[in-house]
Amino acid sequence: MMASLKMKYQNRSGGTGWRPSVPLLNSLGESGGFCVNCGEDTDGIAPDGMRYPCPHCGKSKVYGKGSLIAMKVAYRTDAELYSQFVEQHGEIIHAGISYALASDPELSNHVLPDHLDGYVEWTASAMDIYGNEYVIKWHFDATLSREIDDAGNLPWDRPSSVIPV
Ligand SMILES: [Zn+2]
Repeated sequence: MMASLKMKYQNRSGGTGWRPSVPLLNSLGESGGFCVNCGEDTDGIAPDGMRYPCPHCGKSKVYGKGSLIAMKVAYRTDAELYSQFVEQHGEIIHAGISYALASDPELSNHVLPDHLDGYVEWTASAMDIYGNEYVIKWHFDATLSREIDDAGNLPWDRPSSVIPV
């Protein structure tokens, strides 16, 4: 199975981040860099470069190839990325399929339909072991959510939907 060349995910602050694969980095020139904010590559970056300004998005989030590998932001295969995500955010099984969470679940501010009155929605991005990307949604009773102090104790193993991206 071929690795996805780069992977988009939701970062801790609720924004979007990108991670490059090693094959993508290898396809760039010696001075290639990668922006972890917008996912575009850039030339003229030293291998150990960090936080260079990005000509595409303007954020100082371009890193050199060596830095991305040293920081374990780059991944060799989808399986390696999958296990990095499991380590960082956890794994759930839904309908017999395993998903690695690519972000910690966050309370969504979506307006829910009438039949979900009294519920709150949490979402996280996720991937399967083949590198396919998903958004996972959970709907929890709002009262239950308030009573459980530690969000880690909510029934995360029961998502209400897993939507391919
Ligand atoms: Zn950028």
